Amino acid sequence: MNANLYAHFASHFPADLSRCCIETAEQKYYSYLDIERASAKLANLLCSLGLSAGARIAVQVEKSPEALLLYLASLRAGFVFLPLNTAYQRNEIAYFIEDAQPEVFICAPANFSWVSQLAFQAGVKRVFTLDACRQGPNQGSLLERALPMSDQFETVQSNGDDLAAILYTSGTTGRSKGAMLSHRNLSSNADVLHQAWAWSSQDVLLHALPLFHVHGLFVASHAVLRSGARMIFLPKFEAKQCLEFLSRSTVMMGVPTYYVRLLQEPDFNEKACHNMRLFISGSAPLLMETFTEFQSRSGHTILERYGMSETTMLVSNPYSGTRKGGTVGLPLPGVAVRVVDPNGSPCTQGEIGGIEVKGPNVFCGYWRMPEKTAEEFSSDGYFKTGDLGSFDQDGYLSIVGRSKDLIISGGYNVYPKEIESILDEMPEIDESAVIGIPHADFGEAVCAVIVLKPKASLDEQSVIARLKSQIANFKVPKQVHIVHELPRNTMGKVQKNILRQQFT
Ligand code: ATP
Ligand code: MG
Repeated sequence: MNANLYAHFASHFPADLSRCCIETAEQKYYSYLDIERASAKLANLLCSLGLSAGARIAVQVEKSPEALLLYLASLRAGFVFLPLNTAYQRNEIAYFIEDAQPEVFICAPANFSWVSQLAFQAGVKRVFTLDACRQGPNQGSLLERALPMSDQFETVQSNGDDLAAILYTSGTTGRSKGAMLSHRNLSSNADVLHQAWAWSSQDVLLHALPLFHVHGLFVASHAVLRSGARMIFLPKFEAKQCLEFLSRSTVMMGVPTYYVRLLQEPDFNEKACHNMRLFISGSAPLLMETFTEFQSRSGHTILERYGMSETTMLVSNPYSGTRKGGTVGLPLPGVAVRVVDPNGSPCTQGEIGGIEVKGPNVFCGYWRMPEKTAEEFSSDGYFKTGDLGSFDQDGYLSIVGRSKDLIISGGYNVYPKEIESILDEMPEIDESAVIGIPHADFGEAVCAVIVLKPKASLDEQSVIARLKSQIANFKVPKQVHIVHELPRNTMGKVQKNILRQQFT
């Protein structure tokens, strides 16, 4: 049997290949037959480039159906797909090229000149744009070159352990690491989510997520390809546009900010969601406030799930059954999840500890970081996620933050989320981030960074005074800073490392 992920998807494509797989906001339609043929042309082209086995194909392009086709072509031809965040600039790209040593780089037309300069210096064999044609040696559009290629391609035989992709982590806690994912890692997760979220070929996914991240590329696109379903591909999330397409969709996936923005739209209501069966949230914590407001406005309970580049999805609230706000749900079938104390012993119910995971979804290690990889696995083969959490009496997991963000003040553990939840409930506060900063006496001191609601006023001392009446003194921030916004990366994650630098 061929363990190639594309072959796995193709075995679930609809019998009638003329059915639509992708439609765009400009009303361009791509049938499953188009997907087969266009990915075949691109796969033939990639194979004609004389690349080595296991070559990395680095891609930094705007979201489009063609960008997804390139991913599928890379799978079919047996290469390693390496998507890069479109926000990355020169220094960041230089790092990724140096680290991943791709043989091909496909970039946005506007970046061609500096990317090709960097790439050729680093020994990358070929640099292309995806769609716009340019002149010169080694240049040109990949799509144009693929046009004369055959639209038939026999998907290469892959072993389950062969690498399908290297996905760089979001770099929220430090420098991004390349997570090596195999065909088996990805297909096992696609199968599990297909069942868990009750996908069918009748589903229409509203796809507004970027394609360079685990959420948009793997969770979202895979769900559709694995189900022979359809997706509406929007280049980015824009609340009004999303609202327009909701009426024809059945499933939406988003980061919490998408849901916050939808709630800001006066026309977002039950009627707008009449065709929807499921809203899924992940990549960052969904505030309880958003969860409940969404429920009352739309009549839908957001299903929150938890995952990461290294493991794809590991825990999810149930499709049928109670979806508990403030939790990420239950371990997915076939995935073992445990919470352990610093000695590696299992925590009791309700006790906070490090979240660890084992299963066919867990990655093959960090690219060229064998020591880091070894450090992040326990002696019995569990991956240490770096997140802290606890299980409740029903087996639902709650995440309280990252172990790197844990504050130890005067020997006591302070979990930022506990204080953030109290701050977020204050009527004047829009959002908050609690961090640890060095302190001569206590080792670390608690520091709160807050964003006020428009027109609200609140001073630092009142925040401290209010907290003093609610939590133990060692948890009360020694400093409170009011800012206009919290630094976030493109996945909407608050970058606490930047705040720590700023306020230390
Ligand atoms: P880096 O590893 O480079 O610091 P990152 O961890 O943000 O970056 P990703 O792999 O994109 O990179 O993100 C995974 C992380 O996102 C998880 O480890 C977890 O901290 C967070 N996360 C994902 N889903 C949720 C969720 N539902 N609630 C809270 N946090 C979540
Ligand atoms: Mg991480």
